[in-house]
Amino acid sequence: MLTRSALLYLARQDKLKDFAARFAAFRKITARFIAGETSDQAVAAIKELNARGCSASFDHLNESVDSIAETEGEVREYLNVLAKIDDSQINSNVSIKLTQFGLDIDPELAYRNARTVVADAARRGNFVRVDMEGSNVTQITIDIFKRLRSEFGLNDVGIVLQSYLRRTYDDAQDLLKIPARIRICKGAYNEPPEVAFPDKKDVDENYVRVMKLLLSSGTYHGIATHDPHMINATIRYARDQGIGKEAFEFQMLYGIRRDLQEKLAGDGYNMRVYVPYGKHWYPYFMRRLAERPANIWFVMKNLWK
Ligand SMILES: Cc1cc2nc3c(=O)[nH]c(=O)nc-3n(C[C@H](O)[C@H](O)[C@H](O)COP(=O)(O)OP(=O)(O)OC[C@H]3O[C@@H](n4cnc5c(N)ncnc54)[C@H](O)[C@@H]3O)c2cc1C
Repeated sequence: MLTRSALLYLARQDKLKDFAARFAAFRKITARFIAGETSDQAVAAIKELNARGCSASFDHLNESVDSIAETEGEVREYLNVLAKIDDSQINSNVSIKLTQFGLDIDPELAYRNARTVVADAARRGNFVRVDMEGSNVTQITIDIFKRLRSEFGLNDVGIVLQSYLRRTYDDAQDLLKIPARIRICKGAYNEPPEVAFPDKKDVDENYVRVMKLLLSSGTYHGIATHDPHMINATIRYARDQGIGKEAFEFQMLYGIRRDLQEKLAGDGYNMRVYVPYGKHWYPYFMRRLAERPANIWFVMKNLWK
């Protein structure tokens, strides 16, 4: 059986990323987690989600981009998506990755590209979430986010923190002082024990600690998880503290625990689904496999068919 770290190692292989993008045959398998190749397919998926009571966040799949022209293409894609959200009147914001905007080439380039997208979203009254990537870029991602946040409002741009990182509780305290809207998730990359808790128990404990800090802050945050223990801890804490359902949102990934997404939306919680689309699905897809080895059997079965 492939281990989590082996799958995450494969996820980082750029040659495989380009190789996989060429094979339409994979579409059948990736369809469970990825809304399609085009923004129109993502819009169609989001319309269905909206009809089920869930809001959404567009994610144009691409990361570790190493050409300036390609980063400019990413900016155009997001500007196009923000216009489509307005035209189609769907309930969605957008999520971006700074390595998609050129962080590996030059942080200044990533900042400028992200700024263009945030400025357009702010003008439209929409919101941009800056996803968090590997720990080699945690600090620079936070620095760029803070720069954006100093120029734009609380409801224009937000960030993500990962509970597997030892530094995250301190980062959350620091960012709340600005204040900032935070998505807390467990974290999806391969990290060494010096920077990340190796044991799930500690990751979960830290998640609950940070979730409580966020909920008590009075700012609107995203609680991103499919883990019923984390969800129940959030519901209990909010109830005990008299924090209303409207004060935060749950977030899940497209195609994962749809039953739970509908249940929470039906119970009156704000439920946002992260909707990835595009050609460069390989690293995202591999991280989903790494999270749940049972998904590998799902892939094998479908490859065989
Ligand atoms: C909206 C959203 C945005 C995210 N953004 C980021 C980000 O910016 N940076 C980052 O590092 N990570 C991000 N993640 C991923 C996150 O860090 C975790 O890797 C992922 O959510 C799995 O953790 P979990 O909280 O669901 O708990 P786990 O303990 O991993 O899983 C709990 C249960 O959820 C179900 N489940 C979890 N994953 C899967 C799967 N792939 N397939 C099927 N079932 C599954 C299973 O039933 C599992 O038992 C995001 C996640 C969400 C939901």
